[in-house]
Amino acid sequence: GRPVAGYSNDDALKAKHVAVTGGKPYFRFPPEPNGFLHIGHAKSMNLNFGSALAHGGKCYLRYDDTNPESEEQIYIDAIEEMARWMGWSPDWVTYSSDYFDELYEFAIRLIKDGKAYVDHSTGEEVKKQREERVDSPYRNRPIEESLLLFEHMRQGRYEEGAATLRLKMDMQSDNPNMRDIIAYRIKYNEHPHIKDKWCVYPSYDYTHCLIDSLENIDYSLCTLEFETRRESYFWLLEQLEMWRPHVWEFSRLNVTGSLLSKRKINVLVKKGIVRGFDDPRLLTLAGMRRRGYTPRAINKFCDLVGITRNMNVIQINMLENSLREDLDEITARRLLIMDPVKVVIDNWKGEKDVECPNHPRNTEFGNRIVKFTDTFYIDRSDFHEEDNNSKFYGVAPGPRAVGLKYSGNIVCKSFERDAAGNVSVIHADIDFERAVKPKTNISWVSAVHGVPVELRHYTYLLKDDKAATDPDFLKYIDEKSEEVLRGVVEPGVEQLKVFESIQAERFGYYVADSDSKPGKFVMNRVISLKEDKEK
Ligand code: ATP
Ligand code: MG
Ligand code: MG
Repeated sequence: GRPVAGYSNDDALKAKHVAVTGGKPYFRFPPEPNGFLHIGHAKSMNLNFGSALAHGGKCYLRYDDTNPESEEQIYIDAIEEMARWMGWSPDWVTYSSDYFDELYEFAIRLIKDGKAYVDHSTGEEVKKQREERVDSPYRNRPIEESLLLFEHMRQGRYEEGAATLRLKMDMQSDNPNMRDIIAYRIKYNEHPHIKDKWCVYPSYDYTHCLIDSLENIDYSLCTLEFETRRESYFWLLEQLEMWRPHVWEFSRLNVTGSLLSKRKINVLVKKGIVRGFDDPRLLTLAGMRRRGYTPRAINKFCDLVGITRNMNVIQINMLENSLREDLDEITARRLLIMDPVKVVIDNWKGEKDVECPNHPRNTEFGNRIVKFTDTFYIDRSDFHEEDNNSKFYGVAPGPRAVGLKYSGNIVCKSFERDAAGNVSVIHADIDFERAVKPKTNISWVSAVHGVPVELRHYTYLLKDDKAATDPDFLKYIDEKSEEVLRGVVEPGVEQLKVFESIQAERFGYYVADSDSKPGKFVMNRVISLKEDKEK
């Protein structure tokens, strides 16, 4: 079960809180803008924004921007874009850094109350003191001295690392997070949001609880690794007599074959191993959008996974199946050939309209007219040079009639090879009346009207799930996880908007890629039609 929320506010605090919230539950989604959102964040957003929506509450999107050295404006912009793409409308968009004046005032109050002190121990020394439960030599310096030196820190009179503000907690606590954590440190990097206004920055532990409280959050939901930090979270709010939200932890989402660490994803991008942070093989939300994932499928997956405290790795098939179900319902069917080989009809010449349904079950999709011509492409996988496999019903020299979708039956008479020995032209006769019922109907695209398309097929980026835990994760990268094919697609498909998908009949789902430009149409294979049970 869930741990005790560990909170009890007195009546005055509760009354003040409810006066603001009207008793509606307040949530927040607090990403640090140091990378791009991924499927794990989708789970957190689903929980926070989703709970607010379900219970008539409100939810903040809060940039938790307390580390200027790793945060950037591009991340800030991308985070909001993807949160909105996922269907969430934050009631407020805030920045931790917008509260720095207030946080600074709280720090002064803590110093005056004897609850914080300026420390000159080095990072190594602080670490050692906290491990060995030994007080810093500066712990009991006079309050006036700490006040003055904290002011000096703010004025930029110190080098980075020369002074910190530490909370005077309990150096003998069994919880390491209660042993005088650092509240402020000096940093001279420019901050993406507040530029060079500050050179002292509050730590995560100092900031998070204070802003949760200032924003009147009811439920502060975070991942399990923060469990040990709950005690300091409440300690600090108690010292300042502030509203204490409920704090609950849930397990991080992990998905097989993927990397969800923002830091590791940034390495892949910076090293050029992927096509950018939105590479279709990444489970960043931008990558998933480019791969053809829909917000609905992602949120459905989050609902299925649920919120638990169990550490587990979810099979990627579960995510893919949520997507398959969604795409089956919402995509129009189109004809596409992945690896074209030309067919020439010898017993009929010309062009005719054929009517094709846009969806096999949903008539609301309507029909469309596609031009059939006497030369067209079929997929190389639908042709065999010899008809010697009893399970193969496709095109091969011999008497068998093979159906063309929404058109006639063809019988292969002969074929030609190019200089390299590859089959280049198949000759066939056609029967539009379909005297026999074919065992299969294959896809085709007119050689006259078809549009060339660059098709990108993907497998998993990682050969092994160990990449998630091994710091040397680059050795698991599968160099062959992207394959580029020159396909052809029926006319009209090239007008899809970027991120819009179709079902290429028999071959899988495809999505228009953002690399498309006039004269060069690019699509990514989203996913096969059926789960590959061999995997
Ligand atoms: P990373 O390790 O990828 O940097 P983080 O936890 O530092 O992740 P933040 O951007 O600070 O990421 O997190 C924003 C919110 O999303 C937090 O509440 C965090 O708990 C949640 N979150 C991040 N990753 C996951 C995940 N894999 N599963 C569930 N929630 C996550
Ligand atoms: Mg992080
Ligand atoms: Mg974080």
